[in-house]
Amino acid sequence: MTVRALSLPTLLVCAALAASAGPARAQPPSAADENAGVPASSDERVIRAGDTRLHVIVENAPSRLRADELQRWLAECASAALTAFGRFPLHDAQVRIRLVPRRGRDSSPVPWGQTVREDGVSVLLYVREDAGMAELRGDWTAVHELSHLFHPYLGDDGRWLAEGLASYYQNVLRARAGLLDADEAWRRLDGGFQRGRRVGPGARMDQVGWSRGSTMRIYWAGAAFWLDADVQLRREHGTDLDRVLGRYSQCCLDSGSRLEPQEFIAALDRAGGRGVFARLYRRYAAMTEFPSQDAPYRALGISESDKDTLRFSDDDADAVRLRRAIMGARPADTAPAKSE
Ligand SMILES: [Zn+2]
Repeated sequence: MTVRALSLPTLLVCAALAASAGPARAQPPSAADENAGVPASSDERVIRAGDTRLHVIVENAPSRLRADELQRWLAECASAALTAFGRFPLHDAQVRIRLVPRRGRDSSPVPWGQTVREDGVSVLLYVREDAGMAELRGDWTAVHELSHLFHPYLGDDGRWLAEGLASYYQNVLRARAGLLDADEAWRRLDGGFQRGRRVGPGARMDQVGWSRGSTMRIYWAGAAFWLDADVQLRREHGTDLDRVLGRYSQCCLDSGSRLEPQEFIAALDRAGGRGVFARLYRRYAAMTEFPSQDAPYRALGISESDKDTLRFSDDDADAVRLRRAIMGARPADTAPAKSE
């Protein structure tokens, strides 16, 4: 495995519209927006899990009360991330929350999120200044961005793997943490698959990069890859995606890690993936059409009764167990996350 330090600043940008079922919100707030409103008064706290730390900075809260609320929200999202394997993937990472005014008709509570890899890894979340706690807890963006910390920078060829992992986990981790009902999480995952499928065929997944019009396919065919892998690991090898990513993060991941997609896949197989990742990668990377969910859905006891409705079978105990193992509520697998 080759790990190269980044020589140039690298942005991993998540166009928030990509996974959203709501209105498009394609542009980050402008500099004018960022500087509008009250003078910045930064509020920094640290959430610890084992030997890992997440530094959470609220850049410009208008009051201590608002800073407390935003810190509470982010701590919930961080606890959701800990339901994967009980620690954060990186020893140190930073989350910056920047309040911005509402823009036009965009009512999204978190209109933009991105993960920046430059002198460490930072998640940057633009939060609408009047977004309430209920709206924030219902939004997927923060958990999506925190899920990008599980993987190294994978370049354009691996963008579908990176966005797919974050899109899969934004639903899985929120369901486990009680931020989303489990059945609703399956429905949202399926909704993503439907949106990806509607894009139609295109370039191979490992060549699709930033192709215009392919965003939904990139995000959700990627998510389908990770669901397929997770199901196969659980059914055939007595392990799971969480455990493999946990081992990978301890042996091999740091904030400067940059890998070719195939190198990442091989590293996951060495970290307990038993060849599942390489086999699936060969198939998915070459796909020009959206992958079928038939095999994982059969194993999970999920079927589509009509265009918009998912049916969950309770007849097959293995399928019920498998669904619960992935989406079931659970405490963070560690001592509770602490803010200081
Ligand atoms: Zn993303």
